[in-house]
Amino acid sequence: MSLDVNKIRQDFPILTQTVYGKPLAYFDNGATTQKPQVVIDCTNQIHTELNSNIHRGVHYLSEQMTELYEGARRKVQEFINAEHSQEIIFTSGTTGSINAVAFSFGELYVRPGDEIIVSGMEHHSNIIPWQMMCDRKGAKLRVIPFTDEGELMLDEYKKLLSNKTRLVAVNQASNSLGTVNPIKEIIDLAHGVGAKVLIDGAQGVQHGGIDVQSLDCDFYAFSGHKIYGPTGIGVLYGKEKLLFDMPPYQGGGDMVECVSFEKTTYNSLPFKFEAGTSNFIGAIGLGAAIDYVKSVGIEDIAEYEQKLLNYATDKLLQIDGLRIYGTAKHKISVISFLVGDIHPYDMGMIMDKLGVAVRTGTHCTQPIMDRYEIEGTIRASMAFYNTFEEVDRLCEAVLKAKQMLE
Ligand code: PLP
Repeated sequence: MSLDVNKIRQDFPILTQTVYGKPLAYFDNGATTQKPQVVIDCTNQIHTELNSNIHRGVHYLSEQMTELYEGARRKVQEFINAEHSQEIIFTSGTTGSINAVAFSFGELYVRPGDEIIVSGMEHHSNIIPWQMMCDRKGAKLRVIPFTDEGELMLDEYKKLLSNKTRLVAVNQASNSLGTVNPIKEIIDLAHGVGAKVLIDGAQGVQHGGIDVQSLDCDFYAFSGHKIYGPTGIGVLYGKEKLLFDMPPYQGGGDMVECVSFEKTTYNSLPFKFEAGTSNFIGAIGLGAAIDYVKSVGIEDIAEYEQKLLNYATDKLLQIDGLRIYGTAKHKISVISFLVGDIHPYDMGMIMDKLGVAVRTGTHCTQPIMDRYEIEGTIRASMAFYNTFEEVDRLCEAVLKAKQMLE
């Protein structure tokens, strides 16, 4: 079934606006996605009618909020097919989730001389927390290289794996190259040497969903704002047994069972990892976003985005001097490119004046840019509310900018 995109666009009020007198064509969905009216209404309604802190009050509003918050947790659980709702920890985002694992898992399991493996195409969020952890624990960071096309070299990965490997952290899909990584194979190989695996799903979950049980990943992280939900809310999934053993990484209210100056005992899962007042309105908004995505159909979304990707790739490649970085066989709807010697920033600025919003720069993946010996790229990242006509406008904007800058 194909999507009725014109109808879908009516759900996103921001898309109807003009910028510099031109209709907005928003191609920066990898950075953040726009919000459907149901998510805006949900968070507005809570602020207007229900706001009250969760878990702590015996009064009506607090109970209502607690129920909605825990309901959102169950929605996430079902969406990613986790076995238990206490395996879902609400965090501030993918970055928050990865840092939590790097600290907490690192404290318990990582010893001097151990190794952590990441890939060469990770977002800084999936590099720096591991570097910090390696510094703290005397461990070593190893890196899986990738090909010119932007595909991970699995043979090299196999060589890196050993009984020193404690954890492998890779993304489901690259935000800069669009590559969809073979995460099932990566996970199975890591488990073969007894290592755990964290999947950074920041660019994966919104483009086709995820089933954490069939994947058998140990941790999975994603951000609400990249799946049409609010900002400042994210999810850390972890297998119950691991989370149960891992120590909390932050102390504060709600994560405790009993506090005294002599000894403090911690709350059960998932609360042990949710110190302080959590972003409960964000979590409920994320639940509304998940409901919305499910109502559209995650498979239909993926299918439509692939059509957009193919159309945009073919059309962009017709432009003389345009080079695409990231030509893997399996990609999400992300295209990074450069044209001739034109600086990405200059091109992005002109495209913006034509109403076409793209990203320029390193996209928080400096090692990828170093690998290709470039300063950065122009990135068009597409969502299911983008149209083929908008892709035509994207290409026209590139051509116009090229004429002006060459
Ligand atoms: N990982 C990937 C692959 C990303 O694309 C991003 C953001 O662009 C992140 C991690 C960090 O996400 P956040 O800033 O929402 O924590």
